Amino acid sequence: MSTGSAGGRDRPAVRVHEMLASRVLIGPGARRLVAGEVARLGAGRVLLVASPSAAVAAAGVAEELGGRLAASFGRPAPHTPVAVTAEAMAVVEEAGADCVVAIGGGSAIGLAKAVSARTGMPQVAVPTTYAGSEATPVLGETEDGVKTTRRDPALAPGTVVYDPDLTLTMPPALTRTSAMNALAHAVEALWAPDATMVTDALATEAAGGILDALPEVLDDPSAPEPRARLQSAAWLAGICLAQTRMGLHHQLAHVLGGAFDLPHAELHTMLLPHVMAFNLPAAPAASSRLTRVTGRDDPVAVVEGLARGHEGPTRLSELGVPRAALRGIAGRVAADPYPNPRTPSEASLTDLLTTAW
Ligand code: NAD
Repeated sequence: MSTGSAGGRDRPAVRVHEMLASRVLIGPGARRLVAGEVARLGAGRVLLVASPSAAVAAAGVAEELGGRLAASFGRPAPHTPVAVTAEAMAVVEEAGADCVVAIGGGSAIGLAKAVSARTGMPQVAVPTTYAGSEATPVLGETEDGVKTTRRDPALAPGTVVYDPDLTLTMPPALTRTSAMNALAHAVEALWAPDATMVTDALATEAAGGILDALPEVLDDPSAPEPRARLQSAAWLAGICLAQTRMGLHHQLAHVLGGAFDLPHAELHTMLLPHVMAFNLPAAPAASSRLTRVTGRDDPVAVVEGLARGHEGPTRLSELGVPRAALRGIAGRVAADPYPNPRTPSEASLTDLLTTAW
């Protein structure tokens, strides 16, 4: 998880790898095991949080929970606004809930983390996108337009249930952008300063799995087998997000997303090829791993092709980011950069953002 530097100048640094304790069930139909997992936790009064898109699946889980279901909440919102969490907390208190089950995208999982942070309740996460929040000990919350992020092992869901059948309903645009969001976790893990042999292996497998499965899923979105491979790869990418420090790509996404309230996964999709083109020349190990998984094709060109195929906005200008703001964003990032293989300057970042614009 972090890198010590007890090594001398010519000796490799000491690497520290910390595992998060979580129990993961993965496979078609796994959602039917959620009620059993709740029983295993010894919980008897479940708050079921669901994205609107997961209403049908949530109804199925509710039926299997039977008398263990205490209350439901179906209005999670992106970036976990504290006002929404307060509404959910009122439901928790009225119902006397002792466990939270979240089924849906990163917004539903974020809300369950926020509820757990306030109550200590165990969580069961059932993700329906590739965002990866279920794998991390991180919670980002927003209040009055300001996002604050905290990291605590207790925030990571203790049980995660991946059922690839729940991803079959993702429309093509969400499939593509959510998978690109997951790919960004793997790519940044490969050039992270605290990468370990474990994260290198996971990130390489994740990137290869996503690049391999995503085109097949986009060709035939209802085919279960490529969907299952894509979800498995995204799981590994989520572990990478949890275990390494993210760099320039995530910093740009945070600063731009926060300044202009931009859609999370689309923003990741449009930035990733540009950050890869910027960083890979300074990250030879990451570059050679990515070249290996793309079968010797230029990884930037492969990722650019996937990003460009998005049927929604593909440029920052189309998301309403004013060109005049780019230098200011570049200056903010260059003034206090996240760890990154290439040191960004205001001028080089303005160039990068202008190309993405
Ligand atoms: P989301 O949960 O907001 O979902 C996006 C949309 O897709 C919603 O309308 C949702 O109902 C719909 N949807 C979800 N699954 C679907 C499916 N299978 N079929 C059809 N529609 C579906 O978005 P997201 O991209 O999953 O997550 C983004 C959120 O997660 C952001 O708030 C982000 O900050 C957070 N996040 C947090 C972490 C972390 O480690 N804390 C990591 C990644 C993302």
